[in-house]
Amino acid sequence: MHVLVLGAGQLARMMALAGAPLNIKLSAFDVGTGNIVHPLTQALLGHGLDNAIEQADVITAEFEHIPHDVLDICEKSGKFLPSTEAIKAGGDRRLEKALLDRAQVANARYYVINSREDFAAAIDHVGLPMVLKSTLGGYDGKGQWRLKADSDVEAIWLEMAACIAETPNQAIVAEEFVPFDREVSLVGARGKSGEIEVYPLAENVHTNGVLSLSTAIVDTELQQQAKAMFTAVAEELNYVGVLALEFFDVQGKLLVNEIAPRVHNSGHWTQQGAETCQFENHLRAVCGMPLGGTALIRPTSMVNILGEDALPQSVLSQHACHIHWYGKDKRPGRKMGHINVCADNLEALSQELVKLADQLDETAFPAVRENALKLS
Ligand code: AMP
Repeated sequence: MHVLVLGAGQLARMMALAGAPLNIKLSAFDVGTGNIVHPLTQALLGHGLDNAIEQADVITAEFEHIPHDVLDICEKSGKFLPSTEAIKAGGDRRLEKALLDRAQVANARYYVINSREDFAAAIDHVGLPMVLKSTLGGYDGKGQWRLKADSDVEAIWLEMAACIAETPNQAIVAEEFVPFDREVSLVGARGKSGEIEVYPLAENVHTNGVLSLSTAIVDTELQQQAKAMFTAVAEELNYVGVLALEFFDVQGKLLVNEIAPRVHNSGHWTQQGAETCQFENHLRAVCGMPLGGTALIRPTSMVNILGEDALPQSVLSQHACHIHWYGKDKRPGRKMGHINVCADNLEALSQELVKLADQLDETAFPAVRENALKLS
């Protein structure tokens, strides 16, 4: 099997690593350069996108911000999974919100803003405080505003109007501010014949809008709610592949915040903590193979490595730690890799995380220690 992945970042890289034992070969389309590259070495491959599409058995994506003309060519080939509709919904908050409504899954009240009049209507409809998000191109908390008081309306409108003017088809989605207790996500896979396997929920900690820590959690009631919402969204899209749903947990009731039509950072823990990792299950799904098991095999957390390209040797000596570098050039705040930390029980996991935090710089690894202490 040969799979072409749209996007050539760490998710394509980890798919390639997971596909090798199943004899699934990957090439990747670098959206920035338009080149077809090897997902591990980034070496140039082949003769452009049309040729790569022809050679592939299956085409999939690791990234939702893909030019629509590229998506359309891939769709026409009949080889693209999950679907261009799913990828477009993941890259446009307007489409995402409409999808959640169609699937009848709970999400924050919202209003789409294209003009100053819409902004006034949004304030009436949604109320204050509200969170305002650019509909296109926003991720990891970028392109967002918080409106707490009427006195801030004009200043925020000026910034939003500039954002709308900057990008064709841009708009702003106003959302009610959700007083959540925590953020959790569900990663799961749907196969070609409609079978669904979901992983245990992960509890996620964001620092400055970027995921810093994810821990697999066992909570039967919450898991059932999340799985029902996952199933509704996946079936609405007739989805094939791995899909992630991010939720706000408000006193035990889940609201979907966003969807990611792809393998997800909050599912990286599955590489060491689940029977089959999310990357392998995505490939199994899109290649029409049976899905692998998703059960938790041991308590696991994932710590993102942000803006660092080296770790102390002592982390390699800590047997609970499994390091995954992405081979990227160092930039402040950039996701450079992650560390999966495993243990036999939650108390031991907490101790291993504290031990890890003791060896690391707090700015590159925020939130590890304080959240580790909450686990035991
Ligand atoms: P997003 O890009 O939608 O994931 O938003 C980035 C972060 O902003 C989320 O992880 C939340 O911590 C926070 N956030 C987003 N939407 C809301 C909301 N409606 N209410 C409260 N916090 C929010």
